[in-house]
Amino acid sequence: KRRLSTGPLDGLNAEQLEAATATDPVIAVIAGPGTGKTKTLVARIAHLIEQGVSPANITAVTFTNQAATEMRQRLEDMLGGKSALRGLTVGTFHSICLKLLGKVQLLNDAAAAEIAAQLIQEYGRKERPKKLLQAISAAKNSRKTGELDDIVAAYDQKLQVYGLTDLDDLLLRALQKGPGRSARFTHLLVDEFQDINPVQFDLVQCWAANSQSLFAIGDPDQAIYGFRGADAHCFERLSAGDRPVRTVVLRQNYRSTPQVLDCARAVIDHNPGEPRLLLPHLPEGEPVEYVQSATDFSEGVAIAKEIARLSGGVDMLAAQDMEQPERVYAFGEIAVLARTHHQLDLIEQCLRHDDIPCIVTGRENYLEQPEVQGVLALFSWLCQPADRPALGAALRMLWNCPEDLVQSVCRQCGEMGELEIEDLQRTFGQQPLLASWLTAVESYLPHLKDKPLKLLQQWTDNQPEQTAGLQKLLGAAAFYKTLPEMLQALILGQEGDLRRRSGKVGSGGAVQLMTLHGAKGLEFAAVILAGLSKGNLPLERGGEVDDLEEERRLFYVGITRAKEHLMLTGADKSSLFVAELPAEVRMIQRRRPAPRVQQLRFF
Ligand code: ATP
Ligand code: MG
Repeated sequence: KRRLSTGPLDGLNAEQLEAATATDPVIAVIAGPGTGKTKTLVARIAHLIEQGVSPANITAVTFTNQAATEMRQRLEDMLGGKSALRGLTVGTFHSICLKLLGKVQLLNDAAAAEIAAQLIQEYGRKERPKKLLQAISAAKNSRKTGELDDIVAAYDQKLQVYGLTDLDDLLLRALQKGPGRSARFTHLLVDEFQDINPVQFDLVQCWAANSQSLFAIGDPDQAIYGFRGADAHCFERLSAGDRPVRTVVLRQNYRSTPQVLDCARAVIDHNPGEPRLLLPHLPEGEPVEYVQSATDFSEGVAIAKEIARLSGGVDMLAAQDMEQPERVYAFGEIAVLARTHHQLDLIEQCLRHDDIPCIVTGRENYLEQPEVQGVLALFSWLCQPADRPALGAALRMLWNCPEDLVQSVCRQCGEMGELEIEDLQRTFGQQPLLASWLTAVESYLPHLKDKPLKLLQQWTDNQPEQTAGLQKLLGAAAFYKTLPEMLQALILGQEGDLRRRSGKVGSGGAVQLMTLHGAKGLEFAAVILAGLSKGNLPLERGGEVDDLEEERRLFYVGITRAKEHLMLTGADKSSLFVAELPAEVRMIQRRRPAPRVQQLRFF
């Protein structure tokens, strides 16, 4: 068979080639957005495999599940099918650790809130459970001692008693375990290295201890997880290690038009450091626009109009007397980015109102709804009876059980060990409030090995009200073979990938709505970056910005997702970042919302 010239290294520039083929023990690629870091990482893996390295000896760490899926796909395309990749590990730190550790029961949201509530009571604290959980997580990841030490210890103790592992422990336990005898870390590659936290840094060191090569790539200007304890100095720490580091710098940007890059540079140069160098490779494109509307709502309407224009919504063009776009974009080529999920909700409504197909990626809101959390908690407990916090959450959320009853059920179930329906009936049969709970347990216990869809269907059928949240959960359940597999995937946030792969939201078909954090590493032909308003970006909590430089990096990440077309939008008072935009950006004010707007049903 004649081989076409599509080897993994074809088309790489000199620096990319150097990085992809370097044989040094530690290679660091530090470069700006769109310079082909991820492309180079993929090329390196393909090259290693072509050189005869077994895929089982290669592990690549990505920041998101979506990135892992895309990387695998690109490798399959390059190497001609799945079989060429057999044994290859590509995944997030969490999914790789889970694979290393084997069977663990992960703590779900409802049970976590339950445990936090217990601690808040025991320690006489005042914060909300979510806040405490964030603080505990930050403390565990920073590996520093501090005022929360006692609470963290008590929290860990509880997890141990209940047989649960949280996402932070997943990493810590994998670290304790070490790489074992597995060969998979002979060649270790880490994307988005700028955002790893100290525990992850240690994991990388541990896994790379006996490796032939460690390949770490990233961009310090795109570090956006400082709030979660990411270590801003991980590249320096890498260089300070005992193995010499070969550093490769990539300069050429292949992703974005010069206009987009000018805008990005103007913004990021407001952060300390040398002026950034981003050499455009693409020819001149359209000017970047900033459109300011009167309210968040009219901003949403303006976004919907812009998407209609970009996608060639012809009637709209005639009606609104708008400019023709440079070219027509498929919905799937367009992304709307915003700082928070909350902002995306309103935009989603506006798009749906105009029949624009869209999908909100990232962690889905329906998973936060009490009836969904409750049923997930119920099933977690059924899978692992030691998970009493999940039982407590389920009793409260689904059966409105009063506190003292929750306590006594949890206590007694805790003493039982294995669940036997006769035991449960003997102990709780006299309690009228628990009758329907007992019926539910009785009907599920024998079927826990069935497909999750079947179980959830049974649950939903028996609900007086089939909420949208439960419907979405049913949709997700269809993709999983076993209940534990599904519960785990939901906790790891992998469910969105399944939806994407299911074809319903297809490759070409829908505008993607995501947060700036979720957009990391991705690229789109057209990007609408929304919410450039005071309070939204930089995000203010209680009137204050937590970390202005990190918010600016986040804005920078958003801008640099765009290939050809970039529109920035805001409402009401402008974000201070608007003043940092270069003079070439076209400023458009739409102060008065169109009259049609007021009649929408959700207004
Ligand atoms: P980010 O920092 O945003 O993650 P990155 O440095 O990882 O960006 P990639 O996503 O790897 O950048 O590449 C950006 C775009 O540039 C991709 O579309 C990629 O295919 C393209 N690209 C990278 N290198 C080259 C090259 N040598 N020739 C042509 N296109 C390239
Ligand atoms: Mg990348």
